[in-house]
Amino acid sequence: MIIAIDGPAGAGKSTIAKILAEKLNCTYINTGAMYRAVALKLLKIGGKFSQEDLKEIFEKTDINLVGDKVILDDEDVSEEIKDEKVAKFASKVAQVPIIRQILIEKQREIAKTQQCVIMEGRDIGTVVFPDADVKIFLTASPEERAKRRYEELKSKGFHIPYEHLLEKIKERDKQDMERKIAPLKPTDEHILVDTTGKSINEIVDLILKIVKEKQGG
Ligand code: C5P
Repeated sequence: MIIAIDGPAGAGKSTIAKILAEKLNCTYINTGAMYRAVALKLLKIGGKFSQEDLKEIFEKTDINLVGDKVILDDEDVSEEIKDEKVAKFASKVAQVPIIRQILIEKQREIAKTQQCVIMEGRDIGTVVFPDADVKIFLTASPEERAKRRYEELKSKGFHIPYEHLLEKIKERDKQDMERKIAPLKPTDEHILVDTTGKSINEIVDLILKIVKEKQGG
């Protein structure tokens, strides 16, 4: 079974997908983390890259998802990739066809070996698995997503102005929705789940109900 969860930054995809994976005994795959790992590697190397350079670099690069850890060439980069700079650059590198091609192949490869997969990202139900059994489009207003991010950072001791976070979210939405290749958008098959004002439990229960209905009760 493949459950695709697509949606914009900060909609709660990772939180919800992780809980669902545990409840349904599925493998959780965070594709955004893969784009972030690619971005981090390129930021570390620095400079400009041709399509050929990128192909060569990523043929020799190992990106592994182990539970919710992200391992880049044997180094645990799970925390480093959360940086807003990495996120912004990830959204840029995600527009490069050869990078998408390499990562999509890898995502399909991982899923092949699993009984049940919950994969979250931007193009899972549209490009990676157009035949996914369940397609969810998780969303929330930009204001709510910025508020959640603000609270999350505050709880970690970082005081970033709300307005700044809101601006970053809107910027990344625009970049992801308006790009030519695999833009973020729901299909007719996606079930829209607006998480604005809902608790995590409410959202999880709602999606579990959708999955059960799709499975025929
Ligand atoms: O989900 P997350 O915010 O970690 O993703 C970082 C960036 O990676 C996104 O802004 C998006 O541009 C890109 N991405 C993508 N396709 C995916 C997952 C992420 O283009 N399936």
